[in-house]
Amino acid sequence: MSCIFCRIANKEIPAKIVYEDDKVLAFHDINPQAPYHILVIPKKHISTLLELTEEDKDLIGHIYLVMNRLARELGVAERGYRVVVNCNEEAGQTVFHVHFHFLAGREMHWPPG
Ligand code: 5GP
Ligand code: ZN
Repeated sequence: MSCIFCRIANKEIPAKIVYEDDKVLAFHDINPQAPYHILVIPKKHISTLLELTEEDKDLIGHIYLVMNRLARELGVAERGYRVVVNCNEEAGQTVFHVHFHFLAGREMHWPPG
């Protein structure tokens, strides 16, 4: 299996895991862009947002609830957090297994780069 995030989900490659359940894994980004930079991924391989189907609707909602939980546990819920999902090359996607960037702990800027 060549997908790096599938390999992390299967524990073939180590990661600093902060949350896990049967459907979702959350772990620290290897190259953090904020004091808190956590990647939240479905354990199921989905290459980009464009590959989502009707059957993934609950999964995506669940991922947002997991991020709320992370925000509260990390103590950043009140200050705020940002979620980024890059879809395909021009948006900056480099790993083709859907992942939600959870970013917090510093002031965010707009528009994003
Ligand atoms: P993308 O550019 O696809 O939206 O985001 C991919 C993210 O995955 C990047 O922020 C990058 O630092 C992170 N990343 C790439 N390889 C690994 C890895 O092996 N482990 C972890 N923890 N993060 C990774
Ligand atoms: Zn994968």
